[in-house]
Amino acid sequence: MEQELVSLQTKAKEQLAAIENSSQLEEFRIQFLGRKGQFSTIMKNLGRVPKEDKPRMGQMANGARKEIEALYSEKQTALASCGKSPSQSSDAIDLTLPGRRPVIGKLHPVTQIMNEVCSIFEGLGFAVAEGPDVEHDHYNFEALNIPAHHPARDMHDTFYVSDSILLRTHTSPMQARIMETQQPPLRVIAPGKVYRCDSDITHTPMFHQVEGFLVDKNVSFADLKGILTIFTQKMFDKDLELRFRPSFFPFTEPSAEVDIACVICGGKGCRVCKRTGWLEILGAGMIDPEVFKKVGYNPEVYSGFAFGLGIERIAMLKYGIDDIRLYYENDLRFLSQF
Ligand SMILES: [Zn+2]
Repeated sequence: MEQELVSLQTKAKEQLAAIENSSQLEEFRIQFLGRKGQFSTIMKNLGRVPKEDKPRMGQMANGARKEIEALYSEKQTALASCGKSPSQSSDAIDLTLPGRRPVIGKLHPVTQIMNEVCSIFEGLGFAVAEGPDVEHDHYNFEALNIPAHHPARDMHDTFYVSDSILLRTHTSPMQARIMETQQPPLRVIAPGKVYRCDSDITHTPMFHQVEGFLVDKNVSFADLKGILTIFTQKMFDKDLELRFRPSFFPFTEPSAEVDIACVICGGKGCRVCKRTGWLEILGAGMIDPEVFKKVGYNPEVYSGFAFGLGIERIAMLKYGIDDIRLYYENDLRFLSQF
């Protein structure tokens, strides 16, 4: 009986695999699983089995039947999803079916915010400049007043290509590149990718920054405040309060970290702003006279400011996203929301 069961199981599997339409499937059901089918016959024969073998054989027969039943319903689903009824031949075309709409792609949320930031600054008279992702140590550090062994290099967790070539850790090298070849007055923003050896829910090894700087005669910190206030108002469509906290960057003096009143709670304090009512959005400051000297500008004549902001960070605040890695997982359910 044990052998009979095994061969029945094998036969059923083979037949099931060869089935191509639902009428064949129905025939199969009657032949094997029906009330007078082969599995039922075997169950009836259980009576002939010696008493001590009965429980084991019963279990085996049940198991075999369940397996075939599962395969049967799998096949049933597979045939149904082909959408063919037995009356339709395989090459029939149903002219009443609606057409397939082409899927329209969208710009990535990071690209959207990048474009928005650029267009706000273009409206304020800034020119857009782009530079290389693979950068000389000179432009990334030296020209920005960060000599070798300066402790500020530790803030950057740099990917080095060779001793003097690296993946830029910020978009600030564009300051040095542009000032080297052009004379003031200058109003420039430089958007692009930057790279740091860092990864968690608020950091990815590659992210996007926009560097902005303005150089002219008689530029003051008040001008910086004015430009950034207009920018945040336009970016978040709200009259948001700004806060400047003293900070340190080697290429600006004085330097500040800039916060906006929390866009979620309006400054009352919530989980997103860690109950402080403020959200950090960018770093800024007056360009250090040392940076001007390196490109041959006279710091007694010219002054200027610079700022750098993270695009992913702005998008996270604007859309209330709490994990930066979502941007790069290519999950359409996430991306199609923007
Ligand atoms: Zn808040």
